[in-house]
Amino acid sequence: MTAQIINGKELAYQLRMKMKEEVSTLKNEGIIPHLTVVLVGDNPASKSYVNGKKRASSETNISSEIIELPVETTEEELLNVIERLNNDQKVHGILVQLPLPEHIQEQKIIEAIRPEKDVDGFHPINIGRMMTGQDTLLPCTPYGIIKMLQENNIQIEGKHAVIIGRSNIVGKPVGQLLLNENATVTYCHSRTKNLKEITNQADILIVAIGIPNVITAEHVKDGAVVIDVGINRLDDGSLTGDVNFDSALTKAAYITPVPKGVGPMTIAMLLENTIKAAKGLAHS
Ligand code: NDP
Repeated sequence: MTAQIINGKELAYQLRMKMKEEVSTLKNEGIIPHLTVVLVGDNPASKSYVNGKKRASSETNISSEIIELPVETTEEELLNVIERLNNDQKVHGILVQLPLPEHIQEQKIIEAIRPEKDVDGFHPINIGRMMTGQDTLLPCTPYGIIKMLQENNIQIEGKHAVIIGRSNIVGKPVGQLLLNENATVTYCHSRTKNLKEITNQADILIVAIGIPNVITAEHVKDGAVVIDVGINRLDDGSLTGDVNFDSALTKAAYITPVPKGVGPMTIAMLLENTIKAAKGLAHS
């Protein structure tokens, strides 16, 4: 079997074009969706992510700005910036690019953002709303994965979804969203015994580990849907996922590549969250 490759880049583009129309309707009503991204320090990967978010925003006609702060910014100074943005009516979405320098407590910063403006969907109130099945701003990568499955007419209900990884930003929430869509969900992590035995039962296998090419055809059930969340930079500068693509391709029915898979969907969902926040629907 040769898998169908899910083109996240193309799907994200189509979604952005739809959003562009929505933004122009909002503009006619006097609402200009605005996203503010805060970047502390000069981590090259973070800079590149932030620039990607700004590019995608402008393609959708969402207004955006990047506030660049020096690496020595104190926690209190950053909290003051967030407070100002929380109170600025023109700002609908606030995103603080992670990771932050070590002297700043990430959780404290995440919790300082007003939940209605938390377009990353990391605030405990938004996570709680997601857990209880309420409408809210969803974390972008998990939301992008669900969208990818739905847009490709891949059935979730009744399927066994296995997730490798249990981080707060990817693994845990993607499992919750799949559960909300009536999948049967199993989580695996670094202490899981018999990983292959479990992954071989997966109709939908989500891989979010952060180790290049560690998942191969041996882990994949015939006809499974394989979603590779990993983004790993190799010594030659190229990007690769956690799944050995050529190997898994021989067993899967659907597979996402890296790059051009989940990554572009994450950014598209950030824009969708910004529009939702601008419409005042973040906590409707
Ligand atoms: P974390 O490092 O926070 O979590 C990794 C998870 O993988 C942990 O739960 C860990 O288990 C588990 N793990 C580690 N080694 C193994 C192993 N050998 N077998 C099974 N499980 C293992 O990573 P993130 O969730 O933040 O990110 C995962 C990957 O996704 C990274 O490559 C990251 O760059 C990428 N990413 C991509 C995004 C996108 O838009 N495409 C967005 C966010 C992340 P334990 O909990 O026991 O330590």
